[in-house]
Amino acid sequence: MNIHEYQSKQVLKSFGVNVPNGKPAFSVEEAVAAAKEIGTSVVVVKAQIHAGGRGKAGGVKLAHNLDEVEQFAKELLGKVLVTKQTGPAGKKVNRLLIESGADIAKEYYLSFVVDRQTAKVVMMASTEGGMEIEKVAAETPEKIFKEYIDPVIGLAPFQTSRMAYKLGLPKPAIRPAQKLMSCLYNAFIGKDCSLAEINPMVLTKDNDVMALDAKLNFDDSALYRHPDIVELRDETEEDPKELEAAAADLNYVNLGGDVACMVNGAGLAMATVDILKYFGGDPANFLDVGGDSNPEKIAKAFNIMLEGGQSKGIFVNIFGGINRCDQVAEGVIAAAKIVSEDGKSMPVPVVVRLEGTNAEKGREILKNTPIKNVIMAPTMEGGAEQIVKLVNEAKA
Ligand code: GDP
Ligand code: MN
Repeated sequence: MNIHEYQSKQVLKSFGVNVPNGKPAFSVEEAVAAAKEIGTSVVVVKAQIHAGGRGKAGGVKLAHNLDEVEQFAKELLGKVLVTKQTGPAGKKVNRLLIESGADIAKEYYLSFVVDRQTAKVVMMASTEGGMEIEKVAAETPEKIFKEYIDPVIGLAPFQTSRMAYKLGLPKPAIRPAQKLMSCLYNAFIGKDCSLAEINPMVLTKDNDVMALDAKLNFDDSALYRHPDIVELRDETEEDPKELEAAAADLNYVNLGGDVACMVNGAGLAMATVDILKYFGGDPANFLDVGGDSNPEKIAKAFNIMLEGGQSKGIFVNIFGGINRCDQVAEGVIAAAKIVSEDGKSMPVPVVVRLEGTNAEKGREILKNTPIKNVIMAPTMEGGAEQIVKLVNEAKA
């Protein structure tokens, strides 16, 4: 789960991380009132969306007086911001963060993330902070310093001091930087984060060290331990299809393409996405319907896949274990009645491969259905190839 920058900063502040004085604003009036209260000569007006790259897209503005705050707030609220991370559709700005302006001497990068290879949390930092860290990681990875953290000992003081020296921080800034690192680590562990990223962490002209931006991601499996974090959820920032699927108990991830697939089991679902890609398809989603796939649930899944005209074809790939293939077949027919205009034809081609428990029975049901546009495939490979071909033909 993701939260907004201003929320991340509130969480981090409670762990002792040094953040600028700031307030969220949901309207132009609130923005001006917040700036008045903060009272510094420069305030920053920042668009709050669940995506980075705002600076380059005009979502971060420095205001030198209240008139400018008003002007920037008017400009940003309601605007659709398209950044490197939002995709071409962009994200609508509904909230702002009004913050005291910092006098920046230099920008750094700092983050904590779980490293799967070593099964440890790793602290990463770089002198090349600011707006181009992805480029630094790709082209000059040696400029990113790392400290792997022993899970029993935790982040040790020698590690934070080594990092502060590697970053070449001036002497009076060493201790504040160490403090920021250890407070950020405590927040990462304390709130079960999967990522805590400060970009930029800044050195100010009076040798203070501060988190000027903040991004926290949380491990969904641990959210039950953090009701305070769950409260920060902003559903308007999440994919409506994914929300709908979660409510229907479907494991669904929108992948943005146009060849949809409906599969049982996460492993088979991933293999299906891979094989669609192998045959030149652009997968629309990952979808694991799970083991208790009754017809209503299958119908719901079809609805979600087809919504908004995203999918140009659907591949149903079921290996029946606990699932019964005859139930899945009934589900496909129930879905056709809901998603088609006349109840007799699927709006896009649907290729079905059934194997495992009651496969014969399932195939029989689909063979005898009057519903059009449902095609049976004997194998996973053949089915994947066929649906990609049909979708590509439809597009040509
Ligand atoms: P992002 O582009 O979405 O990652 O947004 P950031 O919060 O990182 O802001 C982008 C850039 O705006 C930063 O790298 C800074 O250069 C600049 N910026 C943000 N806050 C301030 C501030 O208080 N003072 C100054 N001078 N620049 C700031
Ligand atoms: Mn940033």
